[in-house]
Amino acid sequence: MISDLMSYKCNACGGSFPSQDELMKHAGQAHGKQSYNCKACGTSFNSEQELMQHGKQAHGM
Ligand SMILES: [Zn+2]
Ligand SMILES: [Zn+2]
Repeated sequence: MISDLMSYKCNACGGSFPSQDELMKHAGQAHGKQSYNCKACGTSFNSEQELMQHGKQAHGM
């Protein structure tokens, strides 16, 4: 039986987690995914490219 609480799915391995926090923790440990945080507003991104794009659009950097 699958719990409704486990609604956060890992795209890499299909594992389910109760919160995005747990999912991020898992991704970092199991798949070596690093998160890139915006220095201006703290939003996190999965790739440096996304972060750069956000910086340009949101902060004009
Ligand atoms: Zn995974
Ligand atoms: Zn930002």
